[in-house]
Amino acid sequence: MSAVMEPPKQNAAADYINQIFNLVKAKNPAEPEFHQAVMEVLESLRLVLERHPEYQENKILERITEPERVLMFRVPWFDDKGKVQVNRGFRIEMNSAIGPYKGGLRFHPSVNLGILKFLAFEQVFKNSLTTLPMGGGKGGSDFDPKGKSDNEVMRFCQSFMTELCRHIGPDTDVPAGDIGVGGREIGFLFGQYKRLRNEFSGVLTGKGLAWGGSLIRPEATGYGCVYFAKEMLKTRKDTLEGKVCLVSGSGNVSQYTVEKLLDLRAKPVTMSDSDGAIYDADGIDRDKLAFVMDLKNNRRGRIKEYTDKYKKAVYQATDKKLDHNWLWNIKADCAFPSATQNEINAKDAANLLKNGVKVVSEGANMPSTLEATKMFLDAKILYGPAKAANAGGVATSGLEMSQNSMRLSWTREEVDERLHKIMISIHQNCYETAEKYGTPGNYVNGANIAGFLKIANSMLDQGLV
Ligand code: NDP
Repeated sequence: MSAVMEPPKQNAAADYINQIFNLVKAKNPAEPEFHQAVMEVLESLRLVLERHPEYQENKILERITEPERVLMFRVPWFDDKGKVQVNRGFRIEMNSAIGPYKGGLRFHPSVNLGILKFLAFEQVFKNSLTTLPMGGGKGGSDFDPKGKSDNEVMRFCQSFMTELCRHIGPDTDVPAGDIGVGGREIGFLFGQYKRLRNEFSGVLTGKGLAWGGSLIRPEATGYGCVYFAKEMLKTRKDTLEGKVCLVSGSGNVSQYTVEKLLDLRAKPVTMSDSDGAIYDADGIDRDKLAFVMDLKNNRRGRIKEYTDKYKKAVYQATDKKLDHNWLWNIKADCAFPSATQNEINAKDAANLLKNGVKVVSEGANMPSTLEATKMFLDAKILYGPAKAANAGGVATSGLEMSQNSMRLSWTREEVDERLHKIMISIHQNCYETAEKYGTPGNYVNGANIAGFLKIANSMLDQGLV
């Protein structure tokens, strides 16, 4: 019998995991989000490490938690008053075992090294699940596009790309959008890359349709998250039809989550931004969604304006002193957190469960704290963790890369069908892996283990690099 099959001592894997977690904390102090993301994955891997001692022998966990490369740079730019502004830029190239680094850029004042490391780490596993050949990376800046003019955003993007362009390329590292980086920002970044490198290539995804973008890429994360919820419900012979759904955020992911929920005859009733949330008991229909899209994507206004237009809806301002989020305490069947990390804490999770929520499908990255995650798992509701449920965005970025390489464009229907198939396959992989490792219905274990195995085995195949 090969060494792979010999059962190691029961607690050897648990010891190894503890040792790695302490190492990660010591080497990356003051990065709690990164610790959280690593902890969640490590907890799932105990079962794998017990069956596969070769991962410990080859120090796969030490290697997988250490970025292959971290870039940090100064981004100077002029504001509209001619004053010098200075921001900090980052790119974390986390793991390239199965393809070029791939992952979004986030522009938000909260951005720091720890947040980007957590996002890059998550991205590695997520990309592995998509069935496509993409490594993991993430980047961004503490620049806040909110309240800036288009010219200021352009000057910032140009300065950011002037440094970043040395490190990325269609076969090396392919960034995309994330919070604060939408079509406008991708356009400015792409334009500057093209100018500096004299090269028109698929170096970024989320591009405009006329210059290499893919149909369905803007919709993909939200659509994919709803497709994932639909697959989870199917395992209990249920559908989304008529289900009351809570959606947080009002950006890219939230908007297309609401749209797909409407397609599947569910009833979305909430949206939010960092200032507050709206609740519309009658449901957010297509006309109301069109209003939100115009408000957010063109007028760049605040969600509060929804209640100026739709008087029956109610608005609740964010209260930082509260120990829970008002939006998660509304009676519903399903929840689609689509704003940001740690937006569902233990109290929110308790409220959701108390109010009868049976499905949580995560559009945002790591929106649930470790305590909230555990409560969902213990309650045995259908809980789709971000790395699986929101993988449709990066999967469609992968489809954009394929179209760029082939220099052709697929139709809307073709891309949507591929996205749908990918989400079905991610769901099946997580479902079957969870079962194989003795925790049926636990999509957290399923996603972490399935994502890990492909990366770890590729790293073993490629030697010590
Ligand atoms: P957008 O910038 O388009 O929208 C973000 C939304 O979340 C806005 O409504 C924003 O409100 C709100 N928000 C952001 N930060 C906070 C905060 N700290 N507190 C409260 N609300 C906040 O981003 P996306 O929709 O692209 O991204 C949303 C989430 O989805 C993120 O976690 C992202 O990492 C994840 N994701 C995105 C993918 C994509 O394809 N875009 C792919 C996979 C995951 P405000 O305008 O007031 O800041």
